[in-house]
Amino acid sequence: MKTAYLDNSATTRLDPRVQEVILKTFSDVYGNPSSLHGPGRAARRTVDNARERIAGLLGVDEKEILFTSGATEANNLVFQGLPENRGKHIVTTRVEHPSVSEVCSSLEKHGWEITRLPVNREGRVQPADLLSAVRSDTALVSVMWANNEVGTIQPLDEIAGKVQVPLHSDAAQALGKTPVSLEGMDFLTFSGHKLHGPKGIGGLFHRKGTHLKPLLLGGGQEFEKRGGTENVALIAGFAEAMDLSVRNQSENRRKMADARDKLAGCLRGLPDVSILGAESNGLPNILNACFDGADAEALVLALDAEGVHVSSGSACSSLSTEPSPVLLAMGFSIEEAKTSLRFSVAADTAAEEIEHAMEVIPRIVKRLRGYSEKKRNE
Ligand code: PMP
Repeated sequence: MKTAYLDNSATTRLDPRVQEVILKTFSDVYGNPSSLHGPGRAARRTVDNARERIAGLLGVDEKEILFTSGATEANNLVFQGLPENRGKHIVTTRVEHPSVSEVCSSLEKHGWEITRLPVNREGRVQPADLLSAVRSDTALVSVMWANNEVGTIQPLDEIAGKVQVPLHSDAAQALGKTPVSLEGMDFLTFSGHKLHGPKGIGGLFHRKGTHLKPLLLGGGQEFEKRGGTENVALIAGFAEAMDLSVRNQSENRRKMADARDKLAGCLRGLPDVSILGAESNGLPNILNACFDGADAEALVLALDAEGVHVSSGSACSSLSTEPSPVLLAMGFSIEEAKTSLRFSVAADTAAEEIEHAMEVIPRIVKRLRGYSEKKRNE
């Protein structure tokens, strides 16, 4: 059966060059980086090289890069370790990933005050709102770089350097797809599996001097900020993946935008389909659309049966039938949000995949709409 993997915001295929690095490291570099002997020192060198590579790509000092199990842990690390003596107020937005929004809700139960800023119809927060929400007791401002459901890029460039408090951004979806500058940033979250790297590895940039309390104690690894033996092979693979995706960003962006634009053209040709988000100023790989009169969950399953793999809402919440909080924050109704599908391409999306999707989507949408119309009339 022909297939089309269009769920690259949920995760990407492992790049074969990254796989090679991981497998070689798994078999050859078996020492514990904390051991003093040769195999241990070889493992330490592998971790150090990966850290230097990533720091170099981001233009920061290697001591400012920490490896974690992924973006979820990196986000938790920033929020759960905030000092309380600076005030217990956080400014964030209504469209953050659950690994930020749920930590905020949990902090709220422990006496923290959270300001969740609204966004416009495209999902963008207004920089002026953000700057004026900062108070003398604000401990952190956290705004994701780009949204995982609609691809909207937030105006970090207009905020960075202007807020007088620590600034964090979750760049899990942004890195490799849009330029990310660390100027004026104090914390930045990233993830391996969104850039053709392995799952279960990610990291955090933390500017020298910023407060960070470890979530995991024991062993003193990662500059005493994250205990536990380093995942040497995945760390090496992650650095390779980040290197490939950041260095080839312009070319990859063109490929992604081409695939996304073809798909968008197909969707625009269908009746009662509206494309959401900031198409002109969003990530080049995400396309989110509402299919009036069709249920998104049913669409996902019917498309899957024809080899077209997409998601409804974000992958992290797609097992729940709740409408996406992101779309609701953007001003869409519950009914509209329940008809939304996210298509996300990658630089390795083949022309045949897009062609297959363009052949299948109109047919399935028509069939399901007919079905829901029939159900409504029953
Ligand atoms: N933040 C964003 C914006 C994401 O899209 C994701 C993945 N869905 C995460 C955080 C979590 O990343 P990880 O799977 O590496 O924990």
